[in-house]
Amino acid sequence: MLLTLATTHQPATDLGFLLYKNPSAVQSFDLPFGKAHVFYPEASQESCRVALLLDVDPVRLVRGGAGKGEGALEQYVNDRPYVASSFMSVAIAQIFGSALSGKSRERPELAITAIPLELTIYCVDCAGGEGMLRRVFEPLGYELEIRKYPLDEAFPEWGDSRYHSFTIRAVTTVHDILTHAYVLIPVLDNEKHYWVGEDEVNKLLRHGEGWLASHPDRSFIVERYLQRKRKLTRLALERLTIEDDADPDATDEAHAQEEEAVERPLSLNERRIGSVMSVLKRQSARRVIDLGCGEARLIERLLADQDFSEVVGVDVSYRALEVASSRLRYEQMSDRQRQRIKLIQGSLTYRDKRMSGYDAATCIEVIEHLDPPRLSAFERVIFEFARPKTVVLTTPNVEFNVKFESLPAGRLRHRDHRFEWTRAEFQGWAREVCARHGYSVEFLPIGDEDAECGAPTQMGVFTL
Ligand code: SAH
Repeated sequence: MLLTLATTHQPATDLGFLLYKNPSAVQSFDLPFGKAHVFYPEASQESCRVALLLDVDPVRLVRGGAGKGEGALEQYVNDRPYVASSFMSVAIAQIFGSALSGKSRERPELAITAIPLELTIYCVDCAGGEGMLRRVFEPLGYELEIRKYPLDEAFPEWGDSRYHSFTIRAVTTVHDILTHAYVLIPVLDNEKHYWVGEDEVNKLLRHGEGWLASHPDRSFIVERYLQRKRKLTRLALERLTIEDDADPDATDEAHAQEEEAVERPLSLNERRIGSVMSVLKRQSARRVIDLGCGEARLIERLLADQDFSEVVGVDVSYRALEVASSRLRYEQMSDRQRQRIKLIQGSLTYRDKRMSGYDAATCIEVIEHLDPPRLSAFERVIFEFARPKTVVLTTPNVEFNVKFESLPAGRLRHRDHRFEWTRAEFQGWAREVCARHGYSVEFLPIGDEDAECGAPTQMGVFTL
């Protein structure tokens, strides 16, 4: 089976940097089901094409138990070595792993830039034919070119086979096009997959972030990907309905610094942390989860206080977690200290078992980063599913913005803020949340209160 990926973005050979594969070399890799070879049939300034060729070993497949397992002969004589299936996805993840996750050491900017790309797959067993290929790829903005194969060239009257080769074309990122191929190749092929365990749900949701929830055929895609396992499909769809399309690394550090600069004269960050700590102590919370922990400023303080036996930070941004881990000197921590802390990547608009079971959840300056249509998902994830006894939530009070001299009129404190609320708006929302989920709420100001505008930060303490 063969996949090629080509670009005309110049210099086209930069594709090699995006894939971490040198255009002038042929490389081979051992995989559990055979060998993969990577080479460039074309590599010039103007146009560059990489090929990922999989040489599947049918004997190894049978021994490994990944084959079809039916009649004795069929175990050895089948189309598995030749049609692109979940084996191809495994190869993409193993061999183009960094590119799949959108990273490039040498060309980080290019990795997040949309460039003209063309991905071809030879060939898939797609009983749904051209219609299914279009149904799956067109909503994602691809132009398609499809090639059919007759069942037998000698007997054209027998019609076409189920096999198709196809090309998808778009101006997009390497990350996106590989992700779509990774998830959708096994969806097209209805045979037994090389995987399918509970972990696949997480994998699917992770790779589906930002596009799967809004795909018109998402139920079909999820069902096929999870091989119609009813329980898993239900689990995935349930979580998808409250998906956020937040870009995991959307945190723009420069913007965060801007916000800090606006608020610094009031040492608001310090005062927020102080207020949150005192609320947590008053509530006698010992196990605390910090949602949208960012660079772990609150976590750092919680860890320094032995009243807190377990502290978990969640953030959607992997990068923020990396910074958090190095600020906390996680690597140098003693085993005992390390047992108290966990940093996990996750989205607050996904239902997530890992967020349950804590005495208190804190969510400091995070909700204003969520798109308003996602707020109801966030609300359910925290107040309906995670459901800690105490939730401490802070957000800017927009009424106070006129008092910041460095902030132009009408501007929010941070360019990534999707909204900033007045006190009435925050309190209105909080009361509705309480009514829906059986919490009560108390509002506390953070920072010096102005007679007219109130305090710069508003805090809601929700208790069950
Ligand atoms: N609580 C921290 C960081 C606030 S900045 C502090 O007070 O310093 C907002 C943080 O929320 C960022 O780190 C951002 O990555 C995170 N975030 C935004 N949307 C998120 C989501 N849907 N799920 C989890 N974290 C999210």
